[in-house]
Amino acid sequence: MRFLIFSLLFLFLACVQKDSTPNSVVEEQLPVAPIATSNSYAIAIHGGAGFLRKGQYGLEKEQSAADALDQALSIGDSLAKAGVDAIDIVQEVIVFLENSDHFNAGKGAVMTFEKEHELDASIMRGSDLQAGAVGGVQNVKNPIKAARAVMDSSDHVLLTGKGADAFAKAQGLDLVSNSYFTTERALGAWERRHQSEIEKDAKHGTVGCVVRDMNGHLAAGTSTGGMTYKKYNRLGDSPIIGAGTYADDRSCAVSATGHGEYFIRNAVAHDISSLIRYKNWTGPQAAHHVIHNVLSTDAGAGGVICIDKNGNIALPFNTTSMFRGYVTPESREVFIYGNEE
Ligand code: ASP
Repeated sequence: MRFLIFSLLFLFLACVQKDSTPNSVVEEQLPVAPIATSNSYAIAIHGGAGFLRKGQYGLEKEQSAADALDQALSIGDSLAKAGVDAIDIVQEVIVFLENSDHFNAGKGAVMTFEKEHELDASIMRGSDLQAGAVGGVQNVKNPIKAARAVMDSSDHVLLTGKGADAFAKAQGLDLVSNSYFTTERALGAWERRHQSEIEKDAKHGTVGCVVRDMNGHLAAGTSTGGMTYKKYNRLGDSPIIGAGTYADDRSCAVSATGHGEYFIRNAVAHDISSLIRYKNWTGPQAAHHVIHNVLSTDAGAGGVICIDKNGNIALPFNTTSMFRGYVTPESREVFIYGNEE
């Protein structure tokens, strides 16, 4: 009888404990195949996740955004072949994407509630865990260069607002007026959002790059204008090391895109790295798990690009579209919608 009471009590406690676990996620190691694997160098990029349906963005615009991604990959490819370090490849590729007006980063950045631009960027080197980031800059032409300068030439990791602009100026970086970043697309998105508080952008357009160089070193970077109509100097995940960007030679390099608040709360980029580092999962297993089980369970929308220490590439997302691509010595591919790889 006593045994029966104890058993029932045990069962009851087990059930209560299970039900009261918030956001419980089953950590099942799925056999996820990499998009590609390279023992040599590998580069992956994204141009933002969103809810585009085929044809909605217009074939021409779709093609030119895809062409810009392809050009970015080709720049990265030449640098990687020449033996350039991962961190420098990340920076060059992102500078190119920031200068292209197809993306929500640098020129082409979305507008705040006040119809201005506030840009965020971060960069991280996997060999020594050095990192730099800027948030809410308004006049640095290439925020990724400012992030790199924070990493190389300051004692800090994250500078924000006017101080970050002043730091970039002191570092001799190119400055522009805030209106330099404005495009028709960003104005249109602002107007639509202004008309209806509920409407969300179908295409976000943040950019990111992750690299494994010829020597097996990893680096990651992300750059964005944030989210249309943002207020109160809101910062998303892109300038937050561990949320939007992370690189560690012992695990992987990750850059994220999507609804930043969810990526911050779930420490997405670091979570992926930890599954690889402490549980020996592959990059594709860890990245798929965090996007499809952790982030989706929390109703967060977006995706990541990930290259693990062994050169396995993963590009998972839980939205309908993510501008993305990769290059290895064997192949170069660009994709927009789901199930294209
Ligand atoms: N993650 C960015 C942010 O929340 C936006 C994006 O990736 O589309 O600021």
